[in-house]
Amino acid sequence: MEVMSSPEGQLLLVPRSAVPTLRFFINGRWEDAPDRETAPVTNPASGSIIAQVPLASAEDAARAVVAAHQAFLQWRDVPAVERVQVLFRYKTLVEQNVNAIARLICEESGKTLDEARGSVRRGILRIDEACAVPSLMPGESVESVSKGIDRYSLRQPAGVIFEPGKCITCGICVELASQARVPLGMTFIGRGFDLKIGVPLDGQLADGLQQVAEDCVKHCPTGALTFEDESKNVIKNTGL
Ligand code: SF4
Repeated sequence: MEVMSSPEGQLLLVPRSAVPTLRFFINGRWEDAPDRETAPVTNPASGSIIAQVPLASAEDAARAVVAAHQAFLQWRDVPAVERVQVLFRYKTLVEQNVNAIARLICEESGKTLDEARGSVRRGILRIDEACAVPSLMPGESVESVSKGIDRYSLRQPAGVIFEPGKCITCGICVELASQARVPLGMTFIGRGFDLKIGVPLDGQLADGLQQVAEDCVKHCPTGALTFEDESKNVIKNTGL
């Protein structure tokens, strides 16, 4: 038997099989993992078990990373104006389900319902920021800045930047920095819906990534880590 909390917050004794076992989501499909060991997910407010999570093997993780990276290689060639349409639909779904998501956060993190709704609202603000990316990408041009001269600016890679709104906290950058023994490295900060990726001790991103910066940008599945755009002025002689 397991202890579960009812939607009204009462503790119930239920057969172990009634506690749902979660599934993997790999390459766009849900997968059962009946032969994996499981670990309980508890409601920290009541201590009751609300689900069992299958413990992924290294092979499961590798399959997920490879599938995500393959998708990323195609996705990054999709124009930004088309990519954000998915985010607009995502934002609509999150807005339509604020209360349902907030209840899940309450169960998993022990927050009050109001706090959980606030977390969802902050999440929606991050989606807003990501939706605005196409308007942040263009350079600019000025015709006839001088006699016979046009000027335009392009955005090109310079350093590495981190966009928290795109981060899915997969932990790949944490693992890569750890494997390379970067002294500061990257780490998980917070918990539940507020779980974030960051540099320990409020360090700078450059110090957290160091020699693995290029690898992390390459393997970050969502583009949350990218090379910074640097406006580069180009002067063009129009031959007038
Ligand atoms: S920054 Fe990228 S690689 Fe690092 S945890 Fe976030 S999504 Fe994963």
